[in-house]
Amino acid sequence: MKTVVENVTCTFCGCLCDDIIVEVEDNRISRVRRACANGRGIFLDYDPTPRKPTVAGREVEWEDAVSAAAEILVRADSPLIYGLSSSACEAQRKAIELADLLGAIVDTTSSVCHGPTGLAMQAVGEPGATLGEVRNRADLLIFWGCNPAASHLRHFERYSLNAEGALVPNGRRDRTMVVFDVRPTATAKAADQFFQVQPDSDFEVLTALRALVQGREIESDSVGGIPLERLRDLTEGMKACRFGVFFMGMGLTMSRARDINVRELFTLTAQLNEFARFIVMPMRGHGNVAGADQVLTWQSGYPFAVSYARGYPQYGPGEFSAVDVLVRQEADAALILASDPVAHFPRAAAMQLKRIPTIVIDPVVNLTAEGAQVFFPTCCYGVDAEGVSYRMDNVPIRLRGALPTVRPTDESVLDAIIETVKRC
Ligand code: SF4
Repeated sequence: MKTVVENVTCTFCGCLCDDIIVEVEDNRISRVRRACANGRGIFLDYDPTPRKPTVAGREVEWEDAVSAAAEILVRADSPLIYGLSSSACEAQRKAIELADLLGAIVDTTSSVCHGPTGLAMQAVGEPGATLGEVRNRADLLIFWGCNPAASHLRHFERYSLNAEGALVPNGRRDRTMVVFDVRPTATAKAADQFFQVQPDSDFEVLTALRALVQGREIESDSVGGIPLERLRDLTEGMKACRFGVFFMGMGLTMSRARDINVRELFTLTAQLNEFARFIVMPMRGHGNVAGADQVLTWQSGYPFAVSYARGYPQYGPGEFSAVDVLVRQEADAALILASDPVAHFPRAAAMQLKRIPTIVIDPVVNLTAEGAQVFFPTCCYGVDAEGVSYRMDNVPIRLRGALPTVRPTDESVLDAIIETVKRC
């Protein structure tokens, strides 16, 4: 028999589209409507069949796997807990509780994407808004160092360029779109104006825009490869708009100057509020990376790269970031929650992960799980489990499961490990 489940949330990216319709037949999702090509696989490729956990590649009972994981973590001098961004907030808070109990380092995927954004936010504040406000009000959209036409495929349709809103009833025709990037992209093709920035020159361009907004003169014909006249015209457009938005991506956070780039953008945004309503929003990648920032901040006071080794949370981007900890060979055991660092980390960090005992909690067998000492095949939040995720604008979304929950959740596995560690 076929059942149709409406208003399911896709957790693939930070858009968290919550209007997905799925059809379920024989406890499998047979059809998905409204999800984009990036998100469809989450539902269609997912096999909810219960599986046993493994220890050293052999299937074992769940209690035995929990004991093995607890033993690894208790024996370690400096355990690392990493990932979190593709799990639900309920599991994230358990992972942090476990880090606190063990005196471990806990880090999220933020440290390799928007960590610099967090640093800038702490330094100068973040003029923000919700995607609902953007949809209903924004008449000037500026995408900087991001390519949502490839990474967040429904962003234009649901929240920005093509969305029809209360004060922009004609959608695309009521909005102006500008793109800054180091190369032409699919997003740039959709823009009214494209500014090609010389690589690693974003800071200079942002500083020039700040100067122009303040009415200062610049003794140069171009900045970062962009003619000054074009920047001056854009500045006038920014001052004259009603509601402007900067959507920023890893082109800013992971190029030279990193958090200093972002700090400059946030400061520019704050200055523009003298003339028009202007906000900035990071384009978050993983479905609940914004939630990982939120949960770690409310539990420890800091958004990523936190060590509990001294019995209280210490913040140390660069010192307690997972890549740095692994490259320096300081972690002697790792628990990876819903992430695949072996596939994405620099080689030296990935090799260290392969050398130390690793525990993986994940719905799918990824590269990191293949080499794990202990692997827990859990359910997938939003597909066969309920939970909470934060959208890229930090609005919490309640996830409903489309399938019955037959596998353990990340939260329940972490809870069992916590209780076992307490008894060790
Ligand atoms: S835009 Fe993101 S959240 Fe929306 S359907 Fe596509 S992958 Fe899923």
